[in-house]
Amino acid sequence: MISLKSEKDLQMMREAGKILAKIMQELQKGITAGISTGEINRMAGDLIRREGVKSAFKGYRGFPGEICVSVNEEVVHGIPGERRLVEGDIISLDLGIEYKGYFSDTAITLPIGEVNPRTKKLIEVTKRSLLKGIRQARINNHLSDISYAIQNYTESQGFSVVRQFVGHGIGINLHEEPEIPNFGPPNQGPRLLSGMVLAIEPMINTGGWECETMDDGWTVVTKDRLPSAHFEHTVAITPYGPEILTS
Ligand code: MG
Repeated sequence: MISLKSEKDLQMMREAGKILAKIMQELQKGITAGISTGEINRMAGDLIRREGVKSAFKGYRGFPGEICVSVNEEVVHGIPGERRLVEGDIISLDLGIEYKGYFSDTAITLPIGEVNPRTKKLIEVTKRSLLKGIRQARINNHLSDISYAIQNYTESQGFSVVRQFVGHGIGINLHEEPEIPNFGPPNQGPRLLSGMVLAIEPMINTGGWECETMDDGWTVVTKDRLPSAHFEHTVAITPYGPEILTS
């Protein structure tokens, strides 16, 4: 069952989304060539504590970081550590927080200095694919209209959609029903209703869509080791259309 949030729930989730957006904005300011992913993790932890919230990822099935930090060919679930960013890298930051029992989840990919044109386009296409998906998050559409919009746009731009990982419902748990693939035909799955809240998160690859998990048990990389990008927003479906909670 996909849970429908009450107006009170939505109000709390708006607050959870705003706080997360603020943390991510602050965090981005500190990210430059030379910094290590572990230092980004410490900065994220400081911001999370300053806001009086909790990382939803730390300790999740044993995940050691406050935040997922994935560089270049790393798709998602990168563990923060010693790796230092260099000019030309791209970095995906994925963070979920818990605020008074409510969750919000967002991700962004940033270039470090000047990156090559194809990688720059990868970032732009991934960001735009998320917006295309969000635009379909409206009452009476089918769930897979979101999926189709993301895949259709992404492939038209010459990039591929990760299959192994998908978006999800969110609310009083980090991961709720339904799963939201970023691929598939339109007009499938449940109808979207007012009060559903969805974490929509396209993961888009430069080359093939295939991924594999590294020996650390977490870090997902592209099989061809070409760069991957990831954008995510927590979105409420309302009578007035999609409402992005994490911006
Ligand atoms: Mg998510």
